[in-house]
Amino acid sequence: MSSKDRYLKVVELARRRGFFWPSYEIYGGVAGFYDMGPLGTALKRKLESFWREWFVRRHQDMVVEIETPIIGPARVYEASGHVESFTDPIVQCTRCGRLFRADHLVEEALGIKAEGMDPRELNTLIKEHNIRCPVCGGKLGDVRLFNLLFKTTIGPYTSNTGYLRPEAAQGMFLAFKRVHGVMRNKMPLGIAQVGRVARNEISPRQLLLRVREFTIMEMEFFFDPDEDYSSIVEPIASEKIRIRTGEDKRRGLEKPGEYSVGEAVQEKIIMHPWLAYWMYEASRFLEKLGVPLHKQFFDEKLPEERAHYASQTFDQVVWTERWGWVEVSGHAYRGSYDLSRHMKYSGQDLTVFKPYTTPLKRRRLRIRVNKASIGAEFREKTPKILAELASMQPEEAEAALKEKGYIEVAGVRLTDKHVSIVEEEVVETGKRYIPHVVEPSFGAERLLYILLEYAYSEKDGRTVLKIPAFLAPIQVVILPLVSNHEGIVRKALEIKEMLSNMGFTLYYDDSGSIGARYARADEIGVPYAVTIDHRSLEDNTVTIRYRDTWMQERVPVDMLPSRLRSLLAGKEHLS
Ligand code: AMP
Repeated sequence: MSSKDRYLKVVELARRRGFFWPSYEIYGGVAGFYDMGPLGTALKRKLESFWREWFVRRHQDMVVEIETPIIGPARVYEASGHVESFTDPIVQCTRCGRLFRADHLVEEALGIKAEGMDPRELNTLIKEHNIRCPVCGGKLGDVRLFNLLFKTTIGPYTSNTGYLRPEAAQGMFLAFKRVHGVMRNKMPLGIAQVGRVARNEISPRQLLLRVREFTIMEMEFFFDPDEDYSSIVEPIASEKIRIRTGEDKRRGLEKPGEYSVGEAVQEKIIMHPWLAYWMYEASRFLEKLGVPLHKQFFDEKLPEERAHYASQTFDQVVWTERWGWVEVSGHAYRGSYDLSRHMKYSGQDLTVFKPYTTPLKRRRLRIRVNKASIGAEFREKTPKILAELASMQPEEAEAALKEKGYIEVAGVRLTDKHVSIVEEEVVETGKRYIPHVVEPSFGAERLLYILLEYAYSEKDGRTVLKIPAFLAPIQVVILPLVSNHEGIVRKALEIKEMLSNMGFTLYYDDSGSIGARYARADEIGVPYAVTIDHRSLEDNTVTIRYRDTWMQERVPVDMLPSRLRSLLAGKEHLS
């Protein structure tokens, strides 16, 4: 199979059998939007459920899921930094007026990596290499930054700007205080969300890989930055993880190195154990979807490639036949950036209180204020002076008094007549801190495409979609061997009814030869076919046929549901 074939075949299959297709088709389509058809929707729901299972339910003692709005007020995205920094470079052709993503244009023209370059660098490259409009050959204008936020208004007042969320993350930061409260102040705490996001991509491309609206599956994991969490990676310390470090990348190395999780944390290749833990989980999650470990790795982003909020980021990338390495999830150390920004912009306290097991006695400096002498001397300025004194660090005041003999506040000089520094003992029952955050973030549509590409196979010239059985959109197909035998048809319909009532997803197919019906089911990844034949009428048995090997086994009808259940759960194999 050539690489082009595989991609085109997946697309063709997706359209023909109803996984996905371009949206707004009858109006000519709009780039960057895709509809999910019946099979695509069912598969996506399963993918989302499995993500929840893997990242939320399996960690239910510390991770919870919430749902927050897609539209947010401007203030939120000013605070998050997206209004200022969620941009991509754009360049316009001076002749035909077409707009292009400047870094992609440079990458395509020069075969170099240009992601993260600023407009000046891109301009220089375009001028130096005389890069022209790829459509009309015209001269390109100056590179500028384009903001990817979709803008709207909230309610009837046009001044009330709103934005469609470009990530679900902000909803989790804003809800952090409440969730922390309802979880009885538990830390560490993961808040997860699965939902739609919108990014006004300059040039949507690569099918589902870069679209303008997609589903994100994201978790913000909050923890105490001062706590030693090294023990959390102990159970997985010897497990392998593949990483191309930023340093390797700068040196031009294409291949990732293999590390043990323990080693990656100890040598600070991954800056925090929690970041390592979720990366490890992400690699095994992908493995369950059918992407073997040697077809994926974590690619560290260089500082200039990182989002504005992150101090370390890894892209989890997967090998695709047509597009090479494609990012399927991002793993960012967001530190206290988001909570700090929202504290600043909202004026609310989003810190967490952590009680000490035994209260701590500490000596502390305090500024003792002689209000009477300040009031007598500075009169109406007094309230301002007192307010500024309240926010002054005693250490700072002590140093100034020692060095200069006075401290300057609210434009006046205060001496030891007005203030003195005293040392006192305080009992601290705990500390307040701003939690740090690591974030694993997955795009559902990208995963769906990857899943299909990895599941796609051909056998004897026929398509077999080897979607892992537990994710298959349709679990079982019911096939009467012949459609003109009353007894067989009746029994087949009875079995269909029984399995349907038990919650299996299935369909009944009696048209065409049995071979053609198997082929139709294989093509959309139905893992098990149940065939009812003449013998079924005699001994009440049916055959189960397995999609991937075409092997069959005979089971009594009363054993069929439990047998199917364990096969679908992957607990047993067809013998
Ligand atoms: P990011 O917040 O940019 O790290 O994105 C998180 C994840 O969302 C990525 O790893 C992708 O899987 C997915 N993603 C990002 N942008 C797009 C897009 N334009 N279309 C589809 N998926 C995307």
